Amino acid sequence: MADYKSLYQEVILDHNKKPRNYGTIAHASHHADGENPLCGDHISVTLKLDGENIAAIAFEGESCAICKASASMMTAAVKGKTCADAEMLIREFRDMVTGKLEPAASDHIGRLAVFAGVRDLPSRVKCAILPWHTLHAAFSSVASASTEAEDDPMRTLIGSA
Ligand code: ZN
Repeated sequence: MADYKSLYQEVILDHNKKPRNYGTIAHASHHADGENPLCGDHISVTLKLDGENIAAIAFEGESCAICKASASMMTAAVKGKTCADAEMLIREFRDMVTGKLEPAASDHIGRLAVFAGVRDLPSRVKCAILPWHTLHAAFSSVASASTEAEDDPMRTLIGSA
């Protein structure tokens, strides 16, 4: 795990310094705002679908470093993919950060495996998962998502930290 930890810090720093796909997409077909009140993370995700493919995606907001790095890596990971592939990655990422999936058991997680360590930091799980959660809300045409909303689908899955 020592290697993962230093890689984790390196990746978080890199994506905070140079977030990928930061901003908003003009004429977005889907968008959602997500918040994690426990940490104070707010992010908004906009994307444009071309048929089933994610032609463009961007995020912006005020969040902690873990949330921002996760959002940055998420946009890079799902850009050009189909919605179905992105939904599968959302499920695998969620399972990985909640300890239900070992990164090595997935063919899709790739460098996102650096976030596997947050499973040992319960207060950070929601920071890492928020962007994914918000992307899921955008696909479902739910305009806003909160890790703390009673009827939030992700909340039942993650539970309260
Ligand atoms: Zn956070």
